[in-house]
Amino acid sequence: MDAQLRHILWTNDHLRLFCSLLLWFTIPYVSTGCFSPHPTHLDRLIIGEVMQNSELTQNLRALCLPGGRLSGTDNAFIAERYVLDKAREYGLRNGHLEAFAMPCWRATYTRVVRLADQEIPCEGALALCNTMSTPPGGISAPVLDVGDGNQEDFDLLNGELKGRFALVRDGGRNRRSEKMDRALEHGAAGLVVISVADRAPVIGTAHHTPRPEPAVIISHEDGQTIAQALAAGETVQLNIQISSESWDGEPHNAIAEIPGHGPHRDEMILVCAHLDSWHLAEGAIDNGNGSAVILECARALRAVDWRPRRTVRFIWFMAEEQDLRGSRAYVAAHQDELDRIVAMINIDMPGSPRALWTSGSPQFVERLQQFRRGMAGYVLNEEIGRLSGTWSDHAPFVEAGVCGVTLGGELGPGGRSYHTANDKFECVDQRATIESAAVLAVLVRQLADDLSLKPGRCLPDEPPASALTPASATQSARLAGRH
Ligand SMILES: [Zn+2]
Repeated sequence: MDAQLRHILWTNDHLRLFCSLLLWFTIPYVSTGCFSPHPTHLDRLIIGEVMQNSELTQNLRALCLPGGRLSGTDNAFIAERYVLDKAREYGLRNGHLEAFAMPCWRATYTRVVRLADQEIPCEGALALCNTMSTPPGGISAPVLDVGDGNQEDFDLLNGELKGRFALVRDGGRNRRSEKMDRALEHGAAGLVVISVADRAPVIGTAHHTPRPEPAVIISHEDGQTIAQALAAGETVQLNIQISSESWDGEPHNAIAEIPGHGPHRDEMILVCAHLDSWHLAEGAIDNGNGSAVILECARALRAVDWRPRRTVRFIWFMAEEQDLRGSRAYVAAHQDELDRIVAMINIDMPGSPRALWTSGSPQFVERLQQFRRGMAGYVLNEEIGRLSGTWSDHAPFVEAGVCGVTLGGELGPGGRSYHTANDKFECVDQRATIESAAVLAVLVRQLADDLSLKPGRCLPDEPPASALTPASATQSARLAGRH
């Protein structure tokens, strides 16, 4: 072989080696815009970032405002600005607030007393949403026990509820608003709901729109005493005083993004939590912790310099507690984007991460199984539950065919404080909640980068890949602290 030929071959070999090395290093750069670490390594970095440098506790502390974050109130506006400023500080882009109109309501004073020789106050009584202020001195009326307040209980009445307060038990088959509607049909002066045993009175909605007939919830013990007196044939007279306000408000959903890179940047993963709460206590469990979890997820994903393939949009919704008005307004305003969503992840009252639910396709369920198996250090249920119902902000998305996902968890003893005057910062199990942020951040990373998943909608009534059995549904509800 002559020297010239050897030189050419030498050059070709080296050229080939040089080209393959160039290609090897350029592919990840072209596809992601930078040299990304191996996905598994990246996920470990994310978990380490959350577990070592979490800012969840201070963010949750800041969001736990005395008086809660009721939609349309000053506290809610402070919270909206707080998450938006923090998201920007963490390096998220396109941060903005999206206003929507809604009827707002707040009670500032509630007093329920049993009128007798000496007045007996019902401690801890709460006005239910949309009850208007009573006249000075309140409204007094005799009480009639209407059992559980189901249709058959009202069917037994023969006009005797007119001008009286209807006394009903909480829970059962019917919502309070349904019990209220029936009581009004029978001419009741108002509704008095008895709390379930072992729980402080739980706030909620009775009237659909502001109305003057008072609706209140009282403790289980006070309710039992009144019911026993009525059963013994005594006349029980209650006086109810309520100060409340109703106004046309404009709360905001707070939104910020980690933009995607490359050809799939227009596709989206939504990471959502409702920022509003009731006006009792601090709204820590419901849903200060969820709001802080998605903020921590955003912080950690930015801190490890991840450049996702798809855009990850974080949304803090308002008015979940009031008929999901914030998420419904969002879905109505973003119709043209729904086909580009791969998954909407909703975090409502997270604790120690335990359960995954989805409304997605069997293929998506299998992808979640793969995720679960890769998170062996966490105790996630083997069964992926079927996500449905209207109990949180996933509902408007699932109804529109978007793939919904929820990460549920064990809340510990503080979990039962949601919707009560005890829902304070101290109720949140910090360590458990930080684990939820770590699990969520890895889930978001994987879903945003996995191009085997496709955006697009599926029918809400598509047969479930893994239907919840009644037993597991009960377990899921318990995990979510819903009863
Ligand atoms: Zn909630």
